[in-house]
Amino acid sequence: MAELAPYAVSDNNSRGRRHPENAAVHRSEFQRDRDRIVHSTAFRRLEYKTQVFVNHEGDLFRTRLTHSLEVAQIGRSIARALRLNEDLVEAISLAHDLGHTPFGHAGQEALHRCMRDFGGFEHNLQSLRIVDFLEQRYAAFEGLNLCFETREGIIKHCGLENARQLGELGERFIKRQQPSLEAQICNLADEIAYNNHDVDDGLRAGLISLQQLEAVGLFARYLNELRRIYPGLTERRLIHETVRRMINALVCDLIDNTAANIARHSPRSVEDVRGGPPLVGFSDDFNRAQQEIKRFLRENLYQHYLVLRMTHKAQRIISDLFRAFTENPALLPPQFVAQDGGEQTRRVADYVAGMTDRYAIKEHRRMFAIGET
Ligand code: MG
Repeated sequence: MAELAPYAVSDNNSRGRRHPENAAVHRSEFQRDRDRIVHSTAFRRLEYKTQVFVNHEGDLFRTRLTHSLEVAQIGRSIARALRLNEDLVEAISLAHDLGHTPFGHAGQEALHRCMRDFGGFEHNLQSLRIVDFLEQRYAAFEGLNLCFETREGIIKHCGLENARQLGELGERFIKRQQPSLEAQICNLADEIAYNNHDVDDGLRAGLISLQQLEAVGLFARYLNELRRIYPGLTERRLIHETVRRMINALVCDLIDNTAANIARHSPRSVEDVRGGPPLVGFSDDFNRAQQEIKRFLRENLYQHYLVLRMTHKAQRIISDLFRAFTENPALLPPQFVAQDGGEQTRRVADYVAGMTDRYAIKEHRRMFAIGET
């Protein structure tokens, strides 16, 4: 691997772990973070959590696990091309969705509403709570004791009120500074991954059509090109080829434009990166193209009546469970009962947020269906 750029995060310039540990013998600090994330319980649950489609609706749709793998793969390509820390990008990517509730954004909105008077619920902050406290695996500390830079990367956005409670992690929101370039890459790799796989999954589910997508500039460009070069190509291959060309074009643009931004601002260290403007970004053309895909998905997929029905049902499951457990904490598994007058509502949120889609459905049935145990 090429030598890291001077403005890349490295083991040498890392701000380290909350609980100091000896260096691993054969791994870098960020490889070690990645390994801890992969071995965590929350990571395994990502397999049964979905973003748009509920997990049991079909085996072919992306789950949060495959989404996280796609983010890591896209992010690593970008990091390597820019001589940034690939291991850190991989660790952040694999951890970035750990805090998501069951049923994707519908679940998060429902839980946030339930928690409105108790500090709210935000999946970024929950991801941090998981890696800092909720994973109970190590003898010497709570959580996974990840490096500062990995934890920083998990907090993509954060309101000022929450930032004030986050200590050194919250500082950059208060001072309006940037996170590392590696964290900036993960945010955009996330967008590239979900925009493209939601197009793919939406087509597969039959909720959006190729004809509708012809109105989306970047998609239409590759679709028409492919129809010309390969007339008679099956629809499945046509879709895959189009999506893969879109991903490639977005990634290449992001690399080229970011390299140009770096050359223009010439940061010499991670501290220069933190104090400067955001450097990882698309060119104006691709920014517009990316916004257009987002808008299309919002209007045609996320608001599709079949998706909204799922959303409606998910909100009901989450709020029913939350209400029952907060009204009567004795119904909770004992480890989620708050000790010594601690915050019981936060423990209920931890329990509900940790559920997979199918576990939440099952738990709802156990709690409310007469005749179920
Ligand atoms: Mg994501």
